[in-house]
Amino acid sequence: MEKNVYKVVLLPGDGIGPEVTEQAVRVLNAVSDVSNFSFEYENEFAGGAAIDRYGHPLPDDVLHKCQLADAVFLGAVGGEKWDHLTGDMRPESGLLKLRKGLSVFANLRPVAVPAVLAEASPLREETVKGTDMLVVRELTGGIYFGEPKGREGDDEAGEAFNTMRYSVEEVERVARVAFEWSRKRRKKVTSVDKANVLVVMQLWRDVVTRIHRDEYPDIELNHMYVDNATMQLVLNPRQFDVIVTGNMFGDIMSDTAATLGGSLGLLPSASVGGSVGLFEPVHGSAPDIAGQDKANPIAAILSAAMMLDHLGEQNAAAAVRKGVEEALASGARTGDLWRKGLNKVGTKEMGELICQQTLASLTNG
Ligand code: NAD
Repeated sequence: MEKNVYKVVLLPGDGIGPEVTEQAVRVLNAVSDVSNFSFEYENEFAGGAAIDRYGHPLPDDVLHKCQLADAVFLGAVGGEKWDHLTGDMRPESGLLKLRKGLSVFANLRPVAVPAVLAEASPLREETVKGTDMLVVRELTGGIYFGEPKGREGDDEAGEAFNTMRYSVEEVERVARVAFEWSRKRRKKVTSVDKANVLVVMQLWRDVVTRIHRDEYPDIELNHMYVDNATMQLVLNPRQFDVIVTGNMFGDIMSDTAATLGGSLGLLPSASVGGSVGLFEPVHGSAPDIAGQDKANPIAAILSAAMMLDHLGEQNAAAAVRKGVEEALASGARTGDLWRKGLNKVGTKEMGELICQQTLASLTNG
């Protein structure tokens, strides 16, 4: 039988980006070698690496290659070397251009705290153990992009303003992403808004309620105000399955949720909604540990698992997740999660262990 070939653009980026991308690709290759699909990679530059090479954090032709791929995988961008640059020339601007150019309007961030990691959480073990949620954040609208925005006068007598604006269509499409995901999970969606104060959030609540009633009556839906929801995230995170929220609230809530597992090095993400998905670890380029074989590759490897899911390779994705769990269960930890009594490993060794466990999971069915 002919193999499916997926075209993936790799943008390893800066700092630990290339190190963790290498391990993600290693795991992808290990699963594809024993599966009915393969990958065709194109290596490109993004962020600081692209500024050094091309003089821009994401040149148009790199974006164009990404738009023609089946998926884009990004490591991380940014670093001190480029901190003096401003506006469109900053490494992070390349990332915004990429998200916009791929029209990815929904950012998916799963946060799971398996029992073996619960003791590493800054919260009490019994509070976080078993947490398994997916935060769906609207990514291309809301107050970060709304017009009008501006600043008038000076800092003694002026004012400044942004606009939180959502169209019905923007809310409908991100709500559908959340409901669809909840069908693959525990069938519960919590929509987070501030409908008691903001008229734009009243529209948000009305639209989510209608989409639920008309299209997803099999899913349990509840609404929460953002202040309460953020408090609930740390008091009782296990109550959540899928959270859907706007751009700014999602920004704050997903970083709050990110602390539950004890390390940024565990958290994957996917940005979807356009024709090409973008997969990247949540963490940045971690210049403090770059080039030292210290970075935790799990966030990148789990981002690769999300990519496999998105491409329709659910078995392979599940095997990679199982591989990560088993590697952690064996006691292996990179420095960010290491405690006395556990086995301290580097980036490469962690990647190798996860490959072995993933393959074992695939071959054992
Ligand atoms: P960071 O996520 O790079 O690092 C924060 C802390 O977490 C550091 O102590 C780092 O060592 C640790 N850490 C992060 N990832 C880790 C991993 N995989 N394994 C072990 N430890 C890990 O955030 P920062 O320090 O605020 O930013 C550094 C640079 O990254 C900046 O230039 C920033 O703009 C950029 N950044 C990029 C992205 C992105 O590419 N998506 C996201 C956030 C920050």
